Amino acid sequence: MAEFFVDRAENAENTRLLHKKNCVDISNDETHRYLGSYATVSAAHNKASGYYNKVENCPKCAS
Ligand SMILES: [Zn+2]
Repeated sequence: MAEFFVDRAENAENTRLLHKKNCVDISNDETHRYLGSYATVSAAHNKASGYYNKVENCPKCAS
């Protein structure tokens, strides 16, 4: 299991990135929403997609 976070703010493509807890791009809870612990990236992605329209896996930590 790994803990996942998603960007609170959209990027230039109106997309939010899905991250694992240890990603270098996560600074604090104010910029990233905690999703919970999931066994796979795809399970976390499904959860994030329930909150936001466009979610992509972070290329640095969840690709
Ligand atoms: Zn990341």
